[in-house]
Amino acid sequence: MNIKISEVAHLPSRFGDFQVQAFQEGHKEHLAIFKTPLEEAPIVRVHSECLTGDAIGSLKCDCRDQLELALSLIEKEGGMVIYLRQEGRNIGLRNKINAYALQDQGLNTIEANHQLGFAADERTYEIVSTILEHYKIQKIRLLTNNPNKINALENIDIIERLPIIINANEHNAAYLQVKKDEMGHLL
Ligand SMILES: [Zn+2]
Repeated sequence: MNIKISEVAHLPSRFGDFQVQAFQEGHKEHLAIFKTPLEEAPIVRVHSECLTGDAIGSLKCDCRDQLELALSLIEKEGGMVIYLRQEGRNIGLRNKINAYALQDQGLNTIEANHQLGFAADERTYEIVSTILEHYKIQKIRLLTNNPNKINALENIDIIERLPIIINANEHNAAYLQVKKDEMGHLL
């Protein structure tokens, strides 16, 4: 895959003062958000796009809370958030909304994906190695509750896992419970 990389630009945000750089992989454009200088083993959060959560503040999931927490943490401690454009666990926005419609009828997040012909999680993380290599990062402290992400990043030296703790609300409590019970998340 031919990856096209933007310049580095300064991005002041409500969460802190960051540097950003875009990585174009085919029709997907990902973003690295980071503080300089990067440590030898920086904190890294790999966040997958969730338009409904990240932009609209949906209460059906915990994506925005996790993103805000990660950005606030790297502002304080240094590190990088890698924002991957794989909406809806990589089934895309239209399919995700169709899955939400099935959830409105009582299916849980996994059952809805299966009914649409998808696996519970279609995300991939190959691009993460490419991005980390670009910054010559060989070791990371990964901010995640998702052990599958640790396995998916097998060619990266993860020296520590830092948990990301989000409080449940009445809308996402069932979703978080499915993540914990059926998807192996360490919540
Ligand atoms: Zn979400």
